[in-house]
Amino acid sequence: MYTKSNALFEQAGKVIPGGVNSPVRAFKSVGGTPVFMQHAKGAYLYDVDGNRYIDYINSWGPMILGHAYEPVVKAIQEYATYSTSFGAPTELEVKVAELIVDMVPNIDMVRMVNSGTEACMSALRLARGYTGRNKVIKFEGNYHGHADSFLVSAGSGVATLGIQSVPGVTTAVAEDTLSVPYNNLPAVEQLVAENPDQIAAIIIEPVAGNMGCILPQPGFLEGLRALCDANGILLIMDEVMTGFRLAKGGAQELLGIKGDIITFGKIIGGGMPVGAFAGRREIMEHVAPAGKVYQAGTLSGNPIAMIAGYTLLKTLQEHPSIYTQLEEKTTQLATGLREAFGAAGVVYQINQIGSMLSVHFAEYPIVDFTSASGANNELFRRFFHAMLERGVYLPPSAFETWFICHALTQEDIEFTVNAAKASMLAIK
Ligand SMILES: *Cc1c(COP(=O)(O)O)cnc(C)c1O
Repeated sequence: MYTKSNALFEQAGKVIPGGVNSPVRAFKSVGGTPVFMQHAKGAYLYDVDGNRYIDYINSWGPMILGHAYEPVVKAIQEYATYSTSFGAPTELEVKVAELIVDMVPNIDMVRMVNSGTEACMSALRLARGYTGRNKVIKFEGNYHGHADSFLVSAGSGVATLGIQSVPGVTTAVAEDTLSVPYNNLPAVEQLVAENPDQIAAIIIEPVAGNMGCILPQPGFLEGLRALCDANGILLIMDEVMTGFRLAKGGAQELLGIKGDIITFGKIIGGGMPVGAFAGRREIMEHVAPAGKVYQAGTLSGNPIAMIAGYTLLKTLQEHPSIYTQLEEKTTQLATGLREAFGAAGVVYQINQIGSMLSVHFAEYPIVDFTSASGANNELFRRFFHAMLERGVYLPPSAFETWFICHALTQEDIEFTVNAAKASMLAIK
């Protein structure tokens, strides 16, 4: 069933560290061999052995309308003929910036970069440059890319691999990053009190998606906003995952919370490598060449990446019903999964908001990294493989969020729920 994948993974291991170009792809926490993909269309992935899967990763978010979305593919093809890079400004970049400013609340200006990592790294530099302070507060199990400052108590692959402190990150850098449990406002207030006039920024995933999907508890984000305002701290809303996913204006719009600097990635590039950071004019004018906070990129604002993102974002802007439909589908999936797990008599938690969902096999609510880590991840491992065998491609770690795409049909959801029922019977 996986002959070619197995052979490719062995070959890959000789020339690529761990056989993959990003750790979460490696199936480390669920065991087994990663599946090598050949092509994809809509809600389906097809691997090199010809197996078909319903995709609940969707490239970790970007494929919100499904794979190989026709208008995006066409736009890329057209723009590729004009040149794949100029290294000079283009009209398209202005249109993209205007579109983003139009879609997202609380921002006047935006700078394009090439990944979510770059966006968060640059946002932190800007916050430090703007406030003249060095320290940053982040939350355990939140992931903001792989820049040094953020690899302290990080989620996603760092959590999946169980890496406590990352070799190569100097003590000096790590000491400027203070980390606290998600959803614990008193802990943040205490840190701020202990470090007067030293905190440049609090960075947060407004809905956490890198330790499974964890919702902010009522009052938590509001409390952070007030704390930042009272202490001259910038609130960096990392919307790399939630931006353009939870609503056209992201979590800021859905939850009604205002960030000072907003970071983007994933959906913003329509499947091409793009990130961005944005904010009020007064803050963003500190970015070079308008200001002195240096930030640059040879391929930033790349025309192919820009037209892919532009085409996808424009579709989302023009069809707000997509978000309602995505949420309906996700709720329906969650209901079906509850049935499947309930029938099997296992304890479970399903966290869901909009088209983000995650499953933890635990009897208590999953509200932070500690509760997520305490779930039965051995059961998740077996569930993952049973689903894979049945043609359902889930994130290969309980510390990751499932993403639902608009191409997913009623039949796909029923197929998935039936696969979940059969899987639970098979692994019990
Ligand atoms: C994926 C992600 C990042 C990093 O983005 P890359 O494009 O992988 O560098 C940062 N923050 C959040 C919340 C993410 O989900």
